Amino acid sequence: MNSFIFKTADIKSAREIKSSLKPKPEIFSDIFPDGELKSVAVSASFSLGADGLLAEISVSATLDLQCSRCLKKVEISVQDSFEEFYENPPEEINIENPVREALAMMYPQKPVCLEGCDETFLKKYSAPEERENGVFSELKKINFKKKEK
Ligand SMILES: [Zn+2]
Repeated sequence: MNSFIFKTADIKSAREIKSSLKPKPEIFSDIFPDGELKSVAVSASFSLGADGLLAEISVSATLDLQCSRCLKKVEISVQDSFEEFYENPPEEINIENPVREALAMMYPQKPVCLEGCDETFLKKYSAPEERENGVFSELKKINFKKKEK
């Protein structure tokens, strides 16, 4: 049985259910094809009100990524919380898709080391631009000197 599935009848009889899941990172390999997802933890709380069923879901994950600044491996922790509301709850509540969507949204576009990292790689690649600026400022200096004389 899929651990992402919760029975509405169970939630109804207990009024409230809290659950912690530790899904295998491999099941999200379609979102993280290079094994970036190191660990994932989901906590879900279901409560039944007069107007429907509320699921409060929290997803936290550790990602093994490459720093976009120094290109070293960097471990990044991400966390997201959200709510799902079911006005007419089905027999079973499957929270796998909401968890997947949350994980996909949590993927940082430009991961960087938490502590300041070595920017020599970045400087090396922005060097041509700096050189151009250098030449331009040299020309400026020459023109200025000529005008003065
Ligand atoms: Zn870095």
